[in-house]
Amino acid sequence: MNAISTVASQATPSRNTQDWQAADSRHFLHPFTDFQGLARKGARIITRAENIYLWDSEGHKILDAMSGLWCVNVGYGQQSLIDAAAAQMKELPFYNAFFQTATTPAIELAEVLAEISPPQFQHVFFTSSGSEGNDTIVRMVRRYWDVLGQPERQVIIGRKNGYHGSTMAGASLGGMSGMHAQGGLPIPNITHIDQPHWFEHGAGLRGETAGLTPEAFGLKAAGWLEAKILELGADKVAAFIGEPVQGAGGVIVPPASYWPEIQRICDKYGILLVSDEVICGFGRTGQWFGCETMGTKPDLMTFAKGVSSGYIPLGGVMVGDRVARVLIEQGGEFNHGFTYSGHPTACAVALANIRLLRELDVVRHVREDVGPYLAQRFAELNDHPLVGETQSCGMMASVQLVKDKTTATPFDEALEVGMVCRGHCFGNGLIMRAVGDRMIVAPPLVMTRAQVDEMMGLIRRCLDLTLEDLR
Ligand code: PLP
Repeated sequence: MNAISTVASQATPSRNTQDWQAADSRHFLHPFTDFQGLARKGARIITRAENIYLWDSEGHKILDAMSGLWCVNVGYGQQSLIDAAAAQMKELPFYNAFFQTATTPAIELAEVLAEISPPQFQHVFFTSSGSEGNDTIVRMVRRYWDVLGQPERQVIIGRKNGYHGSTMAGASLGGMSGMHAQGGLPIPNITHIDQPHWFEHGAGLRGETAGLTPEAFGLKAAGWLEAKILELGADKVAAFIGEPVQGAGGVIVPPASYWPEIQRICDKYGILLVSDEVICGFGRTGQWFGCETMGTKPDLMTFAKGVSSGYIPLGGVMVGDRVARVLIEQGGEFNHGFTYSGHPTACAVALANIRLLRELDVVRHVREDVGPYLAQRFAELNDHPLVGETQSCGMMASVQLVKDKTTATPFDEALEVGMVCRGHCFGNGLIMRAVGDRMIVAPPLVMTRAQVDEMMGLIRRCLDLTLEDLR
């Protein structure tokens, strides 16, 4: 044992970037990655982080405008989270929650989550990720209708270009065509309606939005849910799932009319409403949960990422009273669970994370200060020749790159303009994500106005460099 750890610790400092890249491409299959493409280029090796910045193995400082992967809400290097993990690992690193046992951090976290969630949520089921959370949603929703004697209510409706994770159920609930093209997805009884994206549907100029205001389009897009319910038969439909703001789809903020109308339709047909809060939860939209920003009262909420600021894997499902009552009072044993459901170390870190979010008043900071400032600075990008649309909500924002902004004409996909822009971001010390030709950010929530200015300077520079490339 000692011999192995000596070898590992001696070998590490002598490795340079090329050594790491070679070992990486020999053994590590990265998520959502073209393996050969990565092997040709070599991975960027991230070695440390502080606040909103990362450093790579070449010593470059990088502004992380994506919070890791939409998760490091409190920023990097927060000592209280680190201490909480160390203390819990020393005391009790792991014990499960099966067989009528519990650990104190899991109980306490359940209590705190019930406190910060909308009032209908008094119960939680823990997982280790958002994908497991959404798998849990599928099982829980179907179990709910079974217990109520309506087992034919099986169908869950999601949205095209929505993202709900990468497990069989998560990828099926999501509407990513590239994912559905691999592995025979979606699984049965999951179907999709179109996304409420004003720009994609014609920006008021053509197609579904021609002549419509964004608000009128929002009602029309919600109407697609009602049409789908009527097509399937309401007695077959179990639930509707959506992200308050579509994150991985490109930070698509629906018109304000959309979600209240979705709520009205779910209520009308008695269909469960599921809010996937994996990105929007824990302050990102300026409220604790995105459903509060959008004005809905969901029956179930999936969470992950920001619950622990990504310092340790943790996720789960907040179960609203309507579902909890049936499962608890009538359901008997629910045959579902994970080894790490309620992992004590993960829960201890989440508790420290939520304590810090509260101490720093981060949700208010997003809602009243840095969020509106980010929105203002993103709106200013509309003067750029490449920019066809900007959107923002709290601490996430997007900018759509177009060939002709007056006619909202997209670029030829083969030009991969988004990837060109992303390349300039990497080259200039900025992590920004490209979804097609849509450039997106979701920075740590603790970002200051001065740091927003720094980020916006880099974004504008990268847009200019992209424009030069196209000339
Ligand atoms: N749901 C949403 C909205 C997400 O954005 C993600 C991940 O990005 C997931 C679910 C899946 O979470 P995980 O990657 O933790 O499984």
